[in-house]
Amino acid sequence: MQDRLKIQGFTPERLMEPLAALDATLPECRRIVAHVVQRGNDDLTAITQVRARVRDRAQEFVGIGRLEVIERRASAVDPFVKYLLKCPDGSEIETVRIPLEKPGRFSVCVSSQVGCAMGCTFCATGRMGFVRNLETWEIVEQLRIVSRELRASGEGRVHGVVFQGMGEPLHNLDNVLEALDIISNPCGLAVDGRNVTVCTVGIGPGIERLASMKTRVRLGISVTSARAAVRRSLVPMEGRYPIREVIKAAKLFYERSGHLVMLAYALMGGVNTGADEAEAIAELLREMPARLSLIEWNPVEGMPYRPPTEEERSAFHDALARLGVPVVRRYSGGKDIGAACGQLATESQRQPRGTRATD
Ligand code: SF4
Repeated sequence: MQDRLKIQGFTPERLMEPLAALDATLPECRRIVAHVVQRGNDDLTAITQVRARVRDRAQEFVGIGRLEVIERRASAVDPFVKYLLKCPDGSEIETVRIPLEKPGRFSVCVSSQVGCAMGCTFCATGRMGFVRNLETWEIVEQLRIVSRELRASGEGRVHGVVFQGMGEPLHNLDNVLEALDIISNPCGLAVDGRNVTVCTVGIGPGIERLASMKTRVRLGISVTSARAAVRRSLVPMEGRYPIREVIKAAKLFYERSGHLVMLAYALMGGVNTGADEAEAIAELLREMPARLSLIEWNPVEGMPYRPPTEEERSAFHDALARLGVPVVRRYSGGKDIGAACGQLATESQRQPRGTRATD
């Protein structure tokens, strides 16, 4: 079992509990969390305005967790950076740094699990199967690594977070929610909840739980196809949570939060880019206003899919426009660095250490 007690896994309020025996005060806990999470320090020796015994206990009994960066791939064609990180138990996970339109702002795509049980047939992580849930601190640590690097290089700061890396975040919702508290905490990474998107394959009860909370986060649903039979062949969870039911839960989220839901759609040539698919999407969107976010599928070796041709892409886009479907076309960057979810980790399992290109 992973050691859950790491400073990155606590808000200042929660950190008071393991330090209660020393009567640690809230301001002291705030300083400890800010020193580690916000400023990216790896020990507490230089911390000020925290009593020595509180500092020592925090260092010794709580400690600072570490994920080792075993590979950092920077794209040669766009400013994407992908990190392969090693957890203390040897598991490998991925994190991607994504540049936003406004200079100096970055979004970070984080993993929530090692592997994934959902088994989507177009996803390299799905092929790995499920290994374990990430601890809260392991989710926060992915952001701390990117944030520290951006600050050190003067490139900018983490502005947004998207839970769209390895794993199904709604299957690790307790830890994801704890991580969200730390990510948005002013002593943590101070990322506005409205700039955080939790992207799910469509787990109805998890969406309903999110809808029942007063949260500022956004919801994304990986649709992939609006036709049940096609979707079932791509997303096996369609058998358990049909997309129509998922949209009902998403509508609840929309009504309670007031935030438009993002429907993520990975375009695969010859699979989900036809006129019948556009009509099925338009019908789905009659149930609930949403934004459809189109992204090209990133090729994964050995999978029977391909990205769409320019003609397929334009025809699909035109068909959606004719049907009045609001579309956001996302740039699918990082192709040269294996930016599709799970690609680095699965490559890493196949290749011996030292044979992979790093920059
Ligand atoms: S697409 Fe997402 S939910 Fe599906 S297998 Fe991959 S990581 Fe899991």
